Amino acid sequence: MTKQNTTMPFANLDSRSLNALQTVAEKHLTALKRYEKNYEEVVKAISSLIDDSQKQIVCCICGQMVYDLLSCNPDPVSLSGRCCRECDVEIVIPARAKQHHLFLDVFDK
Ligand SMILES: [Zn+2]
Repeated sequence: MTKQNTTMPFANLDSRSLNALQTVAEKHLTALKRYEKNYEEVVKAISSLIDDSQKQIVCCICGQMVYDLLSCNPDPVSLSGRCCRECDVEIVIPARAKQHHLFLDVFDK
């Protein structure tokens, strides 16, 4: 058995085998570059989501800071802005219920 050349692992291959090997290596490299690009896109999308999740706004009812992603629709108390969860539970939902009952009262008559 001949001693393998460790510094030039493909030194004993003929040119046809070397060409085939080069073609396979180029295909793998292309696939890796595509994967790397997709990976960068995924990292960018996740980073953007994390940035969005950190965004804070002012509750349009009580004025406290609230994470935008956790904010609520204040309609019918306010037709613009967003409100915090506490105002949603304490003020907005009861206002909606009251509006709903007023509507039912008018409808029943
Ligand atoms: Zn609030």
